[in-house]
Amino acid sequence: MTKLLPTSTAGSLPKPFWLSEPERLWSPWKLEGEARVEGKQDALRVTLAEQQLAGIDIVSDGEQTRQHFVTTFIEHLTGVDFEKRETVKIRDRYDASVPTVVGAVSREKPVFVDDAKFLRQQTKAPIKWALPGPMTMIDTLYDSHYRSREKLAWEFATILNQEARELEAAGIDIIQFDEPAFNVFFDEVNDWGIATLERAIEGLKCETAVHICYGYGIKANTDWKKTLGSEWRQYEETFPKLQSSSIDLVSLECHNSNVPIDLIELIRGKKVMVGAIDVANNAIEKPEDVAETLRKALQFVDADKLYPCTNCGMAPLSRTVARGKLNALSAGADIIRKELAA
Ligand SMILES: [Zn+2]
Repeated sequence: MTKLLPTSTAGSLPKPFWLSEPERLWSPWKLEGEARVEGKQDALRVTLAEQQLAGIDIVSDGEQTRQHFVTTFIEHLTGVDFEKRETVKIRDRYDASVPTVVGAVSREKPVFVDDAKFLRQQTKAPIKWALPGPMTMIDTLYDSHYRSREKLAWEFATILNQEARELEAAGIDIIQFDEPAFNVFFDEVNDWGIATLERAIEGLKCETAVHICYGYGIKANTDWKKTLGSEWRQYEETFPKLQSSSIDLVSLECHNSNVPIDLIELIRGKKVMVGAIDVANNAIEKPEDVAETLRKALQFVDADKLYPCTNCGMAPLSRTVARGKLNALSAGADIIRKELAA
């Protein structure tokens, strides 16, 4: 990117009401068969237009073709039985009924590559595409085959690398891996989590990102945040190792959060997607609120490496609120661009 402070979103954006029920996370599809295929493509066009109207520089599919940021990817793999469900604790936080790994996992055909090609045809703007990270994938499953979190993570890393290489060939500029699990399982992150992420990006020439957040604004997450105290120092555990990894960008939750902003110093040298929009409430930020968060971040990130972003995905918000937040993000970034130019 040659533009200073290029804006983007962490990933998901609201879906139109005719595709799935709005303001609901993991909302089921309203359309079937051919109508669903066409509906998803139309939703991609709509979400792209909304981002461009708001002046977002690095656009995405807004995850319009997936119901869940992890399981929709896993649904396309073999070795996982979606009928056989077990209850597990997701990220040590809340119980969920999840599918079971019953055999060797593999990817027999591309998952999002056609969607990525479709989006590429619609725009010349830089595109970022999100995939789940290996550690977050294993944390959303019950494993009765490998019986080793690490072993399964390495298998998923290989599969993710296959998908990522094809997304790159389809013209994606930045491939992002979502790893909220990096804020929970610190020993595993340092033992093999970052190593499996490196496996997932092996051989890629496009830019790569990792998104590490405190989750969507759902009750299980907001309740968990209340237990974290006045300073959230989770990033401190993983940043030193991330700093020496080959990941290009790190996407973080910063706005309205108790993350001490100086922790960003630990990844000096990386491009940082600074979350300057709170996705856990409906209040639309003022451009000056966004600018203030970016100003604080600028003490620890060089201006040419600062990428204003949202804290996390906005799928559960209304389209009006999401639109307002995107506009605020653009306007806030613009304030800082002008200050830097002055
Ligand atoms: Zn997130």
